[in-house]
Amino acid sequence: MKLTDYIKNVPDFPIPGIQFKDITPLIGDGEAFREAVERLAAFGREQGAEIVVGPDARGFIIGSAVAFALGVGFVPVRKPGKLPRPTIQYDYDLEYGKNILCMHQDAIRPGQRVLIIDDLLATGGTIEATIKLVETAGGAVAGLGFLIELEELAGRKKFAKYPLHALIHY
Ligand code: AMP
Repeated sequence: MKLTDYIKNVPDFPIPGIQFKDITPLIGDGEAFREAVERLAAFGREQGAEIVVGPDARGFIIGSAVAFALGVGFVPVRKPGKLPRPTIQYDYDLEYGKNILCMHQDAIRPGQRVLIIDDLLATGGTIEATIKLVETAGGAVAGLGFLIELEELAGRKKFAKYPLHALIHY
């Protein structure tokens, strides 16, 4: 199955100049969604993943399905003010402005092998922040998995020390 057929490119969304990769046709098709999740789960299994962490919001959709396929738990990484119990947080710079991501401080056991899943790797800022949260909590990043990698943004370079797998490349 060619998963690329299920990604729609949307020019100039949400702002001019961005080629937005819409994953909704993929997750809207039962066979394509299952194929993608099973392939990411196979990668997670190879890396010995014991838990999956995914950032808000498309990381929840893919990450929780991968966790289910692996038979392990899922941990959400969210914007401030969304998680109800004590959190750890990581602040980072965006091209314009700043962003903050949070995770429950007791979400990961020290030494636990963590698979980080998101829909798309662009500059890697979101995943860098997610890695910091996981490592601050004492987790061991077992691998980074994506539906899509935008190769020209070279996000992968930031993560040379981690196993990284993307199903679709642009
Ligand atoms: P980054 O932190 O730059 O790697 O951006 C990654 C996040 O932004 C991912 O979680 C994506 O959901 C979203 N994103 C960035 N660029 C695109 C794009 N061209 N199409 C769709 N989503 C994108």
